[in-house]
Amino acid sequence: MGGDGPFPFTASRFASVGFSEIVQVRNRVMELLAAGEKVWRFEGGEPYMATPEPVKEAMGRALARNQTRYAPSSGIPELRRAILEKVRNKNGIPADEESPIVVNGGMQGLFAAFATLLDPGDEALLLSPYWTPIVDVIAYHGAKPVLVPTAEARRDGLTAALAKRKTSKTKLVYWNSPTNPTGEVFSRAEVEEISAFVRESGLALISDEAYEDLIYEGEGHVSPASFPGIFERTISVFTFSKTYSMTGWRAGYVIVPERWRSAMRTVVLYSTNGVSTPTQWAALEALTLPESFLREAKEGYRRRRDRLVTGLREAGFGIEPPRAALYLFPKTPPSLGTDSRAAARTLLDSARVATVPGLVFGEEGEGHLRFSFSVAEEMIAGGVEALRTFAAAGVR
Ligand code: PMP
Repeated sequence: MGGDGPFPFTASRFASVGFSEIVQVRNRVMELLAAGEKVWRFEGGEPYMATPEPVKEAMGRALARNQTRYAPSSGIPELRRAILEKVRNKNGIPADEESPIVVNGGMQGLFAAFATLLDPGDEALLLSPYWTPIVDVIAYHGAKPVLVPTAEARRDGLTAALAKRKTSKTKLVYWNSPTNPTGEVFSRAEVEEISAFVRESGLALISDEAYEDLIYEGEGHVSPASFPGIFERTISVFTFSKTYSMTGWRAGYVIVPERWRSAMRTVVLYSTNGVSTPTQWAALEALTLPESFLREAKEGYRRRRDRLVTGLREAGFGIEPPRAALYLFPKTPPSLGTDSRAAARTLLDSARVATVPGLVFGEEGEGHLRFSFSVAEEMIAGGVEALRTFAAAGVR
């Protein structure tokens, strides 16, 4: 008798689930910083500004009023009503009173959406390059991500590229415009085309609209669920993180048609039982900020984007400014080679410039590096100088 018995294994579903490589880049940066090195940091993905004061004050008021107890797990009615008004008026989504569910950021909204729809063995179509966690969340549910190269879809048409990869197991399409990591925005005609494709193919759509407000020029954001017959088959996922500089607050919302609501509510109830109550009062305040707030924020983003584009060109990168989001996704210059992991490593080791290797965003991202331009202007100036020195030295 005595002694320990064997230990149970981790659940087998984790065998096919990765853990964000961006975190690994961040860890290496932390090591360098801890060793007293200066690092020019472009590997992140956060708004450059602080959370607006009125939002912080609203949290303070909620605390002073003891609005600190359990809220309904789908959200406080005041916030759900404000969200409903926003998505109806701004996004043109024909949502009803029960559609909005408040979640802990876009990440929980996406996780809950995939959990609601995917059975093991199902297939999910998504364009590539893609935001890294998506393939892992699909794999977590035992389903298979089926990648559609964006370049092919834009050359041959979305319908042709998706139809070619649709099988009897295809359950849904994951759609992300504006796009992380490329900053691309799909046109109204393209959003209409993808919407027609899911409707005619009898599929569901998960529409990730995290960057809806960060479009700097040209045609604005188009929500697929605004097209006839699409709201009924779409889970639209939104977040306060990017628009309102609230990444650390963990607040977002999903707009869910009636048929999937009960499942979505169940995932939220049994995972987090809702979003922190004072955070919801702060989020409500964010929705009432004047338009001028976003106009000014976007001015700052546009300026940073243009400075980094100019600097990267001077350092030998070929790059066109993207229309939206927080990122530049240039090809690696010839001197760095096309292995994006090696290129990112070289830049970090030799120029102390931190970027994310494009391969992290799928095979279609290989040969690219992701730079966030949403950083302090001094960071852009210093990083550009370091890249120029590096390029001039011709280091390989
Ligand atoms: N979707 C995309 C495409 C993103 O880039 C992000 C954040 N990087 C999110 C969703 C989720 O962000 P959050 O969980 O902070 O709302």
